[in-house]
Amino acid sequence: MTIEKAKTALKKYFGYDEFRPLQDEIIQSVYDGKDTVVIMPTGGGKSVCFQIPAVTMEGTALVVSPLIALMKDQVESMRAIGIKAAFLNSSITANERFEIEGQFQSGTLDLLYVSPEKLASQDFQSVLGSAKISLFAIDEAHCISSWGHNFRPEYRQLKLLKQKFPNIPVIALTATADKVTRKDIGEQLNLVEPKLFLASFDRPNLKLEVRPGQKRWEQIINFVSNHRDEAGIIYAMSRKSCESLAAKLQGKGLKANYYHAGMNSDQRNKIQESFINDEIDIICATVAFGMGIDKSNIRWVIHYNLPKNIENFYQEIGRAGRDGANADTMLFYSYADIMFLKKIIEDDGDNGRELMQSKLDRLQQYATSPICRRKTLLSYFGEYLAENCGNCDVCDMPPTSIDGTELAQMALSAVYRMNGQANSNILIDVLRGSGRREIVENGFQNIKTYGVGRAYTYLDWRAYIEQLIQQGFLEIALDDSYKLKLTKASQDVLFNSLKVQLVKPASIKEREESAAASAATKQGKTADFTWDTELFQVLKALRYKMAKAAAIPPYIIFGDKALQEMAAAKPITRDNFLTISGVGERKADQYGTEFLGAIKAYGKEKGIPDEDMFKPVLKASSKSRASKTSKSAKIPTRQITLEFYNKGLSLVEIARERGLKKNTLLDHLLYYHRDGLEIDIESIVDYDEDLLKKIKDLTYQQEDSPPKMTPVFVALDEKVSFDQIRIYFAILETRGAL
Ligand code: ADP
Ligand code: ZN
Repeated sequence: MTIEKAKTALKKYFGYDEFRPLQDEIIQSVYDGKDTVVIMPTGGGKSVCFQIPAVTMEGTALVVSPLIALMKDQVESMRAIGIKAAFLNSSITANERFEIEGQFQSGTLDLLYVSPEKLASQDFQSVLGSAKISLFAIDEAHCISSWGHNFRPEYRQLKLLKQKFPNIPVIALTATADKVTRKDIGEQLNLVEPKLFLASFDRPNLKLEVRPGQKRWEQIINFVSNHRDEAGIIYAMSRKSCESLAAKLQGKGLKANYYHAGMNSDQRNKIQESFINDEIDIICATVAFGMGIDKSNIRWVIHYNLPKNIENFYQEIGRAGRDGANADTMLFYSYADIMFLKKIIEDDGDNGRELMQSKLDRLQQYATSPICRRKTLLSYFGEYLAENCGNCDVCDMPPTSIDGTELAQMALSAVYRMNGQANSNILIDVLRGSGRREIVENGFQNIKTYGVGRAYTYLDWRAYIEQLIQQGFLEIALDDSYKLKLTKASQDVLFNSLKVQLVKPASIKEREESAAASAATKQGKTADFTWDTELFQVLKALRYKMAKAAAIPPYIIFGDKALQEMAAAKPITRDNFLTISGVGERKADQYGTEFLGAIKAYGKEKGIPDEDMFKPVLKASSKSRASKTSKSAKIPTRQITLEFYNKGLSLVEIARERGLKKNTLLDHLLYYHRDGLEIDIESIVDYDEDLLKKIKDLTYQQEDSPPKMTPVFVALDEKVSFDQIRIYFAILETRGAL
């Protein structure tokens, strides 16, 4: 069997032009009769690796899968593209079973999905013996390892396969990467010198974002209003939050519901079905949700609470965007969640405590470090990303590093004067001069540092204190009500003028503005093409209607990505239609009339002549899209700012155009200035030359380098706003005067 044949089948059945990285090599390995182990992230494209051999090789491919609920779905997807598939598990009747076993033995099936129990059962052995089998595919293969988190004792019986059928290749697939599990898979299945394929864990279409865990509800509402009619999941820690979130979303007129382990299985199935069938848009769920679903058009995932570790987090966000279209993920990070999880780990006794602790630390690092999120995430899986990804909040809003010595001194000296009684909330209240009872009762209003940090918001202080903890200038006493303690390093800041670098936190508002701006530029766009959003909605509605009539989930008809491409290319003939990625021959036959009809009608309605309709989209090859170099092809937000600047727009105009804060834009431009580009900020702002001179003198009077804004603010009698001062600072910087 040749890979050319596999490629033809990929186009014919799936409607895809090219294999994703490794898929072709994996298929070749199966063709060569080798045992093969495949490790690929969720949504990476594992199934194709056994489905293509199944449809091109002689005999039936037997697929072992632990999730009965998924089998039906997968079989439906296969049938929808013209591949002959069936499943055998405990959910079917005896009659159905006989019929399917008969088809299997007479060789009319390409694929047969079975549960591990079924495969090992006595009565199935004779059936197995008399059928022609092309290969065994073991899906979710990590279930065989007792090291993994999903150990299934039934999987151990799969050892028999290699004994009984030494010459039939076995392909084992999983998204779980750790080395122990990987080794265990080969050993437990008795594989013969298995070839290992380890795909990249990167999922470039997932936008990564972390937000402070304050005002979560407001943030969620703003977020979902930018994601109208899109399917999404909100993961929360407690059942109660799931229920109350769902109720509040319903109250806003959104199609939302909840799902958790406290419901009976009928209720759960009902909710899950409605979600799969696009009848509910938003599911608020505990981690119990998601395992058994294949829904490929989930457009966003929010983590209301912090997950326990990066593996769980990645698996959960991995449920979004499986169709390859863009999807957004947002993690709320709060120190309270960290403390809560730490407590759980402590209470858990010695049971792997250190490991769990260090895994939580890595997740915290992901949420708080000022470097590209994807870099942090992939480094956890042992991968190195050379360039910043351009599709995370850090890349969108590069953090500004500031001299935080003065801030650190304020905080540390307050801790010192509060005699070990400060936790971070009280500390912030003291720094900001709050008059609340606890402060007064303790006499904290009398200490020297009371109110010195008024110029900063509560959230700013939270971020700074956290950074001080992470840099080792403060410690948290877990055994003493989370009180803050000074460290040896803090002495150096207080008494030996040690300098502290901090990162200036963006406010929630700035983050929302930036996210909305990037959502707006993404609306109707992928890295490859721009689509007609109105036509996309028309096609989505048609998909929903047809799915309903056929009683199958909408995404089985076409993925969002395919609809987006249709809405971009506007195909009007069958040949046009077949150029769309995700439209194979069977689907062209089955759905062509309706979809092409809808597209033509849309063209008529808009007065577009037929010859102007079909414009095939230029696709970057899927290989280069998945490769790391293509990341730089995405336009970083600061570059868009630069383009506006080059067009000669004023700062105010750019701010309006982009929906971003002036400060953010200044950061973008200063970035290019530092990079050596000539940036003339004076030309795009209104400023006063006298005031500029005054501010320059004030900065020269400071000993600090770079100079601070607060002393300038004070020296100018608090009459010039920080925002203004920031602009003057930027001008001075571009003039080389700072
Ligand atoms: P996994 O099983 O690894 O989670 P799937 O096999 O379900 O992933 O594939 C995820 C999505 O990617 C599916 O919608 C699938 O059709 C699509 N896909 C797989 N291979 C390709 C390819 N070569 N080109 C385009 N899309 C692909
Ligand atoms: Zn990034």
